[in-house]
Amino acid sequence: VSTLAIDNIGLLVTNDPALGTIHDAAIVFDGERVAAVQRAGAGAGADERIDAGGRCVIPGFVDSHTHLVFAGERGDEFAARMAGAPYAAGGIRETVAATRAASSERLHELAAARRREGLRAGITHVEIKSGYGLDVEHERRSCEIAAAFTDDVTFLGAHVVPHGIDADDYVALVCGEMLEACAPHARWIDVFCERGAFDAEQSRAVLRAGRAAGLVPRIHANQLGFGAGVRLGVELGAASVDHCTYLDDDDIDALAGSDTVATFLPATDFSTRQPYPDARRAIDAGVAVALATNCNPGSSYTTSMAFCVALAVRDMGMTVDEALAAATLGGARALRRRDVGHLGVGARADAVLLDAPSPAHLVYRPGVPLVAMTIARGQRAWSAPGLEG
Ligand SMILES: [Zn+2]
Repeated sequence: VSTLAIDNIGLLVTNDPALGTIHDAAIVFDGERVAAVQRAGAGAGADERIDAGGRCVIPGFVDSHTHLVFAGERGDEFAARMAGAPYAAGGIRETVAATRAASSERLHELAAARRREGLRAGITHVEIKSGYGLDVEHERRSCEIAAAFTDDVTFLGAHVVPHGIDADDYVALVCGEMLEACAPHARWIDVFCERGAFDAEQSRAVLRAGRAAGLVPRIHANQLGFGAGVRLGVELGAASVDHCTYLDDDDIDALAGSDTVATFLPATDFSTRQPYPDARRAIDAGVAVALATNCNPGSSYTTSMAFCVALAVRDMGMTVDEALAAATLGGARALRRRDVGHLGVGARADAVLLDAPSPAHLVYRPGVPLVAMTIARGQRAWSAPGLEG
């Protein structure tokens, strides 16, 4: 195992309460872990030294909500929506047909390409959901493919009710044979609790069944309107309730008094022309928050966490520091992990070198690819041209 140092860092964001944000710093990785955070110049003794040239280093982004295993794309549906057609959950079925038709090798390749795209965007840890198979064999296959990329696999058989089957019969299948086939490959159970998908009673049945099989709940809730999903998630001990575009006072109270994280997916609200969630109100009430991409072909086809951070600051009332924390430490908390989302000693060696003096540039320079280098598990996973070294 060799050591790698990033030296001459102008500004190092650690997200570690004891270290904070440090000017003129060096960080040393030993294999897959952070070994030391020191003054600039301290990297001289490492086996390999990267000169940050006074630029900024942040923890790698933790993307706690993605749907990377799918085939096909829905650019035409998106264009129609931008021209005035409404968003509906039913478009998922189109991706299901394309995903079922793809070979396992092809699905794996497609997910790998999206994962590489995410690494280029500074995402060093992802959660990946199933949910475009919707029968026992295809859901199991999706979970297995997702498990090749992360240990945070989510079984989302309850994404939408497939055509030709009664909703309650489908819920019984998800809670029975499908869960049994998928649980060995998954850590989390999820359900799309929304009008047009699953109601509160069906969602409760799915999350309870998953819990009984050893999975931990998370939930898609309150994306398209107010509803019971957020409170249901809190009641069942979900690690995270995701979307939260519509939160009433009871939802905020429930979240604030719980360990459940509210995960905002603003690229989805962007891509569906929805209002943005009021993150300021949630944070001020004491709710723990995260930001994630929700990368999927229907409602949010992006791997750019920087774009999500920009939307959160521009349109959701978050400060740059809050948005960056939500996209790193917040994501880790939404996945109940302590090893990622920060650069304290002992953390996973996941860091991003920005071609910028501070994280504010993620918002200040929207759409500009500022990730100069991504270090994942102590290895260079991506370097911008000219930085290959
Ligand atoms: Zn989603």
